[in-house]
Amino acid sequence: MSNPVDYCSQPGLLPLKAALARMQNALVPVTKTESVGLTQALDRVLSSTIHSSIAVPGYDNSAMDGYALRYADARLDASLRLIGQSLAGHVFADELGAGECVRIMTGAAIPIGADCVAMQENTQLNGDQLTLTTLPHATENIRRAGEDIAQGAQVLPQGKRLTPVDIGLLASLGIASVNVYRVLNVAVLSTGDELTPSGQILRQGCIYDSNRYALIALLQRLNIHCIDLGLLPDDPTAISAAFAKGIAEADVVISSGGVSVGDADYTKDVLSSMGEINFWKVAIKPGKPFAFGKLAKSSGSMDHGWFFGLPGNPVSAIVTYHQLVLPALRYLAGEVFEQATSITAIANSNIKKQTGRMDFQRGILHNENGINLVSITGNQSSGMLTSIAQANCYIVLEQERGSVAKGEQVQVLMFDRFLW
Ligand code: AMP
Ligand code: MG
Repeated sequence: MSNPVDYCSQPGLLPLKAALARMQNALVPVTKTESVGLTQALDRVLSSTIHSSIAVPGYDNSAMDGYALRYADARLDASLRLIGQSLAGHVFADELGAGECVRIMTGAAIPIGADCVAMQENTQLNGDQLTLTTLPHATENIRRAGEDIAQGAQVLPQGKRLTPVDIGLLASLGIASVNVYRVLNVAVLSTGDELTPSGQILRQGCIYDSNRYALIALLQRLNIHCIDLGLLPDDPTAISAAFAKGIAEADVVISSGGVSVGDADYTKDVLSSMGEINFWKVAIKPGKPFAFGKLAKSSGSMDHGWFFGLPGNPVSAIVTYHQLVLPALRYLAGEVFEQATSITAIANSNIKKQTGRMDFQRGILHNENGINLVSITGNQSSGMLTSIAQANCYIVLEQERGSVAKGEQVQVLMFDRFLW
């Protein structure tokens, strides 16, 4: 990170877009690749563009069960002689002549000489004599060779995270394995003297750690290899040791808690002593304190990994992960992707907001008579996980916007597969 700007001592907060741009400028995507079989390729990121070596379909074939014939012979007052059949996987070897037809099934090759297919429902067969009850159109019900994919055409670009549909597409081209970027390694930890692992009895004044579990699950959705560094007390020495262990093994360390300006907030100090803070205050709500920077792989080393410090409040941790860390990790993983597009909806209730930060209020969107209506999920406190658990979208309110009255237009971002 050249010329880091000291946002800590600057008034004002870094707008989300600027924070994303700063991260993209600083981060260096992985370059190492490997080859994986298709059954292991889901959610991996392509390291090279895929072209098709074959045409799809590979040959003209029937889109229907019926009879292949010459369009010139198609009449309602004369019958055609049935001379054979063409089944999927079993080609009719002869040529079809004048006045003849061939029984054909969906996906079977069109016999040489035929140029249309009459649907079975539009025919009547008596012995080997076929009568048409409705005339077919010329070239009807024929899927042409190459009409889906031409030989040599680009099918999937480098940087594409493979979906189940992509895997089917690759298989349809006869491709058995693909080159992908290596999987990212990410170390995760929670900080806070009050935190207790789930499954244990709570002491007075303590709470269960939820962030680490949510984070590990979020990283699983992204097909990332996760290293769980556990719970850390509010102790800079212990936190330093955990960061050092994490960054020695992983590309990225993600912590939650202790990133603000409270008496027990050590994350930023440790980050600046072991690496470099790039920024740590973003103009979003929830999630103002969020630290991004780099960590040296070992003391004095030039080799470094990346650090994301999430706020402790559980909703803030999830929202900052989703809005800031997820795009950064996708970029690091070699992915080229477009930001999700928002949709327009009508506020179905008044929404309180202060100017100065971009709000990600948790909403429920539903459609009523063709109109998108959205309401907040009640109390929007960043400590209340139910406010996001009950939601299906964010209501994204622009930084300089104030409160919203019922009936006003708002932008909505539907939750995606990385969150939900
Ligand atoms: P902090 O960012 O450390 O000041 O924490 C802000 C709030 O989030 C406090 O109420 C913490 O108890 C809570 N918190 C911090 N870490 C976690 C966590 N891992 N799981 C659940 N709540 C947390
Ligand atoms: Mg704390």
